[in-house]
Amino acid sequence: MKKYFIAAVAGILAVSLAACSADDTKSDRTEKNSKKHTYTSERESESKSDYLGIELTFHDETDTVTEHETDAPETEKHTESVEVPTKPEETSDSGYKYAYAGFEPAYADMNVSDWRLILVNRDYILPDGYKPELANAVESGFDDMYLDERVAPYYNEMYKAAYEDGIHLVPVSGYRSVERQTRNFERKINYYIDQGYSKVEATQEAATIILPPGTSEHNAGLAMDICSLEQNFEDTKEFEWLCENAADYGFILRYPEDKQDITKIIYEPWHWRYVGVEAAKEMKASGECLEEYLGLA
Ligand SMILES: [Zn+2]
Repeated sequence: MKKYFIAAVAGILAVSLAACSADDTKSDRTEKNSKKHTYTSERESESKSDYLGIELTFHDETDTVTEHETDAPETEKHTESVEVPTKPEETSDSGYKYAYAGFEPAYADMNVSDWRLILVNRDYILPDGYKPELANAVESGFDDMYLDERVAPYYNEMYKAAYEDGIHLVPVSGYRSVERQTRNFERKINYYIDQGYSKVEATQEAATIILPPGTSEHNAGLAMDICSLEQNFEDTKEFEWLCENAADYGFILRYPEDKQDITKIIYEPWHWRYVGVEAAKEMKASGECLEEYLGLA
């Protein structure tokens, strides 16, 4: 009997690992052939918006290309020393580098009474130079996956609990520096300029693929993309496990399918934000997204 049980668990793990390693394989492929994959991704993105029948102003991390082509082989240690243009080419009253294209977020309130509920989105940007203290999201095996050190222990706990259930919550993208976000965003702007868009149009178009620097929860180290960057992640047992258990560790599905009109971000089943156990459970029970929970929607 015990032997059958072990075999069953091994089978579950094998399937789980195979599902997750598909992303690793894709990542490798993407590095080798990023240009080709970029076109694919653009089309996928467009077809998703067509299918959803909504006007998409912002995607968060729907662009696997942007993620993968930037994640490797570059590391944060190296990227920090890379010179990044910080002087705005065009400025406005707000001073935000991309204000020329209509992006003028206010500063996020970092002194909110509960840091776990810091709101970072298209309207609220992290303070200039903000960088959280970081820690590995998983104790071993994923050395380059970081979260805010106040969040990482909860991800690690969730990871271990899921693993015991035969669920492998592979961390795909955690903390990302604003500098790296800037490079991703600039690269995407240039891509659209090459396609013949004006600079303003190219910037607005780029923002439909990746959030402008400083406005992503990844820049704050508060969110993790898990296992996949595909919408069909919702069909996996990993997603099912997260929906059932993530709140017990303080994580919420940040961009639900039925809240796109509020979040302005497409359904992202892979993006899980830490808000603390109490708030996560309340949001899970009420069905509210973070903006609603904070009374801002
Ligand atoms: Zn994400």
